[in-house]
Amino acid sequence: MLANPEPLVVTGTLLRTSGAAQVAVADCPNCSAAHRHLAVGLRTAPCGATYIVRIPEARTGLSVAA
Ligand SMILES: [Zn+2]
Repeated sequence: MLANPEPLVVTGTLLRTSGAAQVAVADCPNCSAAHRHLAVGLRTAPCGATYIVRIPEARTGLSVAA
């Protein structure tokens, strides 16, 4: 019984706003919608999906938890 499989890894896009950063996930693996998160790493989407958000670019210098 695989009750807790390894979370999916999705690619996020870094959004820069004034004084804050967000990570946008363009295609949620659960609902195919776009979600925004305040950090990368293991996140739970508003639709209930759990995934690991990663940004493919080089280090941005942001203090987001990986
Ligand atoms: Zn979703």
